[in-house]
Amino acid sequence: MPTDVTCLGEALIDFVATTADVTVGEAEGFVKAPGGAPANVAVGVARLGGNVAFLGKVGEDPFGRFLEKTFSSAGVDTGGMRFSPEYRTSLAFVSRQKNGERSFCFFRNPGADMTYTPEELDGEKLVTQAFHFGSITLIDEPSRQTTLSALRIAKENGALISFDPNLRPALWKSLETAQATILEQLPHVDLLKVSAEELHFLFKGRLPTEEPERKFLRRGIKELRKLFPNLALIVVTQGAEGCLWQREDCFGNMQGLKVNAIDTTGAGDGFVAGLLTSLREQNLLTLEALSKTDSANLHHAVQFANKVGAFTTTRLGAIPSLPTHAELDAFFS
Ligand code: ADP
Repeated sequence: MPTDVTCLGEALIDFVATTADVTVGEAEGFVKAPGGAPANVAVGVARLGGNVAFLGKVGEDPFGRFLEKTFSSAGVDTGGMRFSPEYRTSLAFVSRQKNGERSFCFFRNPGADMTYTPEELDGEKLVTQAFHFGSITLIDEPSRQTTLSALRIAKENGALISFDPNLRPALWKSLETAQATILEQLPHVDLLKVSAEELHFLFKGRLPTEEPERKFLRRGIKELRKLFPNLALIVVTQGAEGCLWQREDCFGNMQGLKVNAIDTTGAGDGFVAGLLTSLREQNLLTLEALSKTDSANLHHAVQFANKVGAFTTTRLGAIPSLPTHAELDAFFS
């Protein structure tokens, strides 16, 4: 049976510092947390009742097995995951520093996720209503070719293509390459989710920054549409401020929900999972339906995504905080 959504990307372990206001080097202890943005989206879609598969490669090691178990226990089809006997699961040590910035130290030289080859793709899982990917597997070969092949096959199979770049500057050799690579994907994308910071990054030096911020974001969205008229739906998230969205004929502006946010890790992934879920529930996971549906239905989908994103910030970690429908209803009732 074709899946509703197939997510392809990196799955890795985040080791999160147990003390605040330190660098990774200063931290005394770390707690293990499953991570990887496209994998988080897959778990989010599964918790919300979707039929979802995750494609990616981890190490044939205890961390890789832990990731597979975490995803499959959440209801994700992990039959297409690959396990490298040679390379280890990628690890990322993360801490929050005094200035509020996160400090990262990656162990992936290379990590198994980077060694995912096109031959290892599970073609059956690319027969799907929607295909979602990010930019991290586009950094190195062979995972770059694998991601591009999967995108092409999914598109040939008629899938709606969803992309969240999830920029991690520390992983790229240069920011120019990151910018160019992300922009290169956009002609193939139907549904684009970027954060406000990513929109600034994509237009660095091309668009003047403007005050208020939302004015800049609207201008950025218009510019994106001019450059890539194929983008059926563009959504720009702005953390606690909420989000903006646009389809060719309509613009939407949504305030963030007031919640007691304790950890924003995975908010964007929860948001994407919510968006794909609501579109699925409204039978809008096709390019045609997304392009033609009444704007009220898009508003409904983005509103639901906004709720899932907000909920995700109320608990620690990404995967543990992704909600079910029942949890969302109880929280927002
Ligand atoms: P990313 O994690 O990709 O950087 P954002 O930080 O923009 O994405 O957050 C994604 C969405 O999650 C926001 O548009 C909003 O709906 C929700 N969100 C994030 N942070 C908060 C917060 N502090 N309060 C309420 N909602 C939030």
